[in-house]
Amino acid sequence: MPQFDLFQEIILDHFKKPRNRGELTPATRTLEATLPSCGDHLFLDLLIEGDRLVDVKFRGSGCSISMASASMMTAAVKGKPLGEALKLIESFRKMMRGEPLPAGLGELQALQGVAKLPVRVKCATLAWSTLEQAIQEEKTEREDEQHGH
Ligand code: ZN
Repeated sequence: MPQFDLFQEIILDHFKKPRNRGELTPATRTLEATLPSCGDHLFLDLLIEGDRLVDVKFRGSGCSISMASASMMTAAVKGKPLGEALKLIESFRKMMRGEPLPAGLGELQALQGVAKLPVRVKCATLAWSTLEQAIQEEKTEREDEQHGH
């Protein structure tokens, strides 16, 4: 099977059979994200314990790229330490900028073709930016707590 078809297959599979889709209860943090230009709309539920993203689920609707990317993102970061999740977000961004592929992307490489479609890059990145925002909020709150606010 040519690589392009394999990549299409993986994206389609995640779109048709999304992983970690639904509402997570309990969740320690829920973020909503929208991309009005495309009509993508998703919620990300996170369960963070200590420095680990114990569980993650997403809900919402949108184009096939946004939904497939959200599904692939949850599968890739679930159970990972927050630091590793942040590294993966950075690697994903590099791939979306068309930079040489960082190591460790695994199945996510299926989305590399999106880098050539600027309009779609926003769709593919939506769930990832939301996760990044959630982790940053978590860190900021903890720092505030440590400083006695
Ligand atoms: Zn979209």
